[in-house]
Amino acid sequence: MILLDGLATSKQIKQEIAAEVRQLQAQGHRVPHLAAVLIGENGASLTYVNAKVKACEEVGFQSTLVQRSADISEVDLLKLVDELNNNPDIDGYIIQLPLPKHINEHRVLLAIHPEKDVDGFHPENVGRMALGLPCYLPATPAGILELLKRYQVPTAGKHCVVIGRSHIVGLPMSILLQRNANPGNCTVTITHSKTTNLPELCREADIIVAALGKPEFLTADMVKEGAAVIDVGITRVPDSSKKSGFRLAGDVDFAGVSPKCSFITPVPGGVGPMTIVSLLMNTLEACKRRI
Ligand code: NAD
Repeated sequence: MILLDGLATSKQIKQEIAAEVRQLQAQGHRVPHLAAVLIGENGASLTYVNAKVKACEEVGFQSTLVQRSADISEVDLLKLVDELNNNPDIDGYIIQLPLPKHINEHRVLLAIHPEKDVDGFHPENVGRMALGLPCYLPATPAGILELLKRYQVPTAGKHCVVIGRSHIVGLPMSILLQRNANPGNCTVTITHSKTTNLPELCREADIIVAALGKPEFLTADMVKEGAAVIDVGITRVPDSSKKSGFRLAGDVDFAGVSPKCSFITPVPGGVGPMTIVSLLMNTLEACKRRI
């Protein structure tokens, strides 16, 4: 069994990005600039945004955190989006989700200029992804592809079962893995909460991407010998032995499943760190496009 070490791989990629930033500077260009918009006081969102800002600092990017209170009106948020679209110093930006209930998330995402949409959530980028055209890929699936590529996990002709069809993970993952590309060329089965024969489907899979958000859902009896397993799930599970009072659990029962696998990602230290470097890679790309 080979552990797909997302933490080590993400550190390697950060070094590669930092080297490119130094090269840009040496050529007289400014460094890439990512802005992150955080609405309200959601603790988990603040943690994610801070991790993104810290990652920017590590690779030499400029970053700007734009914070607004939870009672911001949709009109004012759309004005902010417009300002970011028109700010020539910002290469790309993200709007941390979820947004407060009174704001129409779709309307806000649609207002982001596709060229600055480094999260890859704008319908134009999603459509381009589906057609295999140049675009910003959504960070989590892009990070998984990078991990598969760097560890040379065989994908061509393999049967991949994706568990979950969310717009940020399951759906784009299934689109990307069926593309005529490397990694790619899988025969993909996308599954969801209404799928009736999930254990049988999983037992036929060469690759399983578990992205449903149910701790330790995928158990050894659902996995065939030699399968590659990608665990996207991150759930806070109460744990009184931890100072924080919780531990992070994936969607895979790692202890039971890992002995059967050819490749597997751990949680934490697998997909999570790769997600953040994908955002950095998109921002670097956005900057280079503007030079
Ligand atoms: P989501 O809640 O938007 O979607 C969950 C999907 O799982 C849905 O499509 C649903 O139909 C499916 N599902 C639910 N129960 C199921 C079942 N019993 N059988 C089959 N399918 C089932 O979740 P999401 O945003 O895609 O996130 C999924 C998990 O991945 C969460 O734990 C989230 O925290 C984590 N996540 C991690 C990263 C990362 O960087 N590691 C990034 C994004 C999300």
